Amino acid sequence: MLKKNILIYGATGSIGSSVLNLIRNNREQFNVVGVTCNSNIDKLLDIANEFECHKLGINNKTKVQSYSEIKNYNVHVGLDEFSKLIDNKVDIIIFAIAGSSSLSLLMDVIVSGKIIGIANKECIVCLGKTLLDLANKSSTEIVPLDSEHNALFQLMKNKNKESIRKYTITASGGSFLNFKKNEMENITPNQAISHPKWKMGKKISVDSSTLMNKGLEIIEACILFNISSNKIDAIVHPESIIHGIIEFNDRSSHAFLSQPNMEIAISSILFENNIVDLKDHELDLIKLKSFNFFEIDNTKFNAIKLAKFSLNEGGLMPAVLNYSNELMVESFLNKAISFNEITTNNEKIMKKFLIDGCNVQTPGITDLNNAFSIINSYIKPNNSIIDQFNR
Ligand code: NAD
Ligand code: MG
Repeated sequence: MLKKNILIYGATGSIGSSVLNLIRNNREQFNVVGVTCNSNIDKLLDIANEFECHKLGINNKTKVQSYSEIKNYNVHVGLDEFSKLIDNKVDIIIFAIAGSSSLSLLMDVIVSGKIIGIANKECIVCLGKTLLDLANKSSTEIVPLDSEHNALFQLMKNKNKESIRKYTITASGGSFLNFKKNEMENITPNQAISHPKWKMGKKISVDSSTLMNKGLEIIEACILFNISSNKIDAIVHPESIIHGIIEFNDRSSHAFLSQPNMEIAISSILFENNIVDLKDHELDLIKLKSFNFFEIDNTKFNAIKLAKFSLNEGGLMPAVLNYSNELMVESFLNKAISFNEITTNNEKIMKKFLIDGCNVQTPGITDLNNAFSIINSYIKPNNSIIDQFNR
């Protein structure tokens, strides 16, 4: 069997580890031909060593200087050099860098004509339509790896889109599902980064606890599958076994069930037609016994409302929500703002951006970078937001 050559952007992260574990258990089918990290060079070198990979991408320019052993590798330093890791040999690219700072890189990756598994939701939310158009023109195949989107993607295969009336994605509800609004004020970063069902990076774990992850995922689904925001909703399903549901006009529904483990979604890009035995992830419904479903409490968590508002305003607004949220999560993790301020500040920033007349319909990358500068200017040194009416 011809081995597939895999390039992994964000190999040292949580998604990267899941990809590598699948490859580790099926070494005869894959070569790892490139791996990247932000600054965890020790981990990157361990991966390169284990998988006999000679091409590396390292973002942290300062730290890289203290590693003499990297002279044994072909190393690209700085995010803007990472696209050089793509060559004729690469078959599949996994894009698992966190955050929207990797947007320019993704724009290069998307025109490669390869098969790309995208886990990063921030970039899709920021410039999704443009990315999809570029992919289309370059015959690049996109496989969504976010579990809910991968579920919908697999459910929609060979289905007539016209016959689908509704899309549903599920939310575990995060760590604070049963907290009262006033109890949420004192939530600490350590509490917010431990997720009840999924093991993930810090940023997405905080997003899960504010439900902004689900808000971003609704935007992501609308862009990826070209559907309007009134056709998709999120519901709380604490067991996290059903990930996505499509309902047909005849009111029958198809649901995608699996253990909450990213290896299952990722396996759909590595192995064609689900031909792989992931025996550690067997689903035992008798043991599980019951599933629960709840409506999202929008008075406690307003992330879905903000996401749908941004979709209805269109243009730059989904990107504004996403960028503001990235800044606020970072401030929260640095203990500069409280847990509840993440979402209240996101709302203030969106409103101010609109009131200032800064939205642009059909934005390009320059509009996006301008928007990011405008948002940076709204944040005072003490981390409060400039009053929305104070122009
Ligand atoms: P993580 O924090 O565990 O890993 C992020 C990876 O990106 C690391 O390899 C890190 O070195 C790299 N990285 C971060 N900033 C970088 C920069 N500026 N330049 C270069 N490399 C950089 O995150 P994760 O949980 O693996 O998530 C990765 C992406 O996948 C996120 O966008 C997240 O929303 C999405 N996602 C994750 C999960 C999950 O289960 N972890 C599920 C769905 C979607
Ligand atoms: Mg998800």
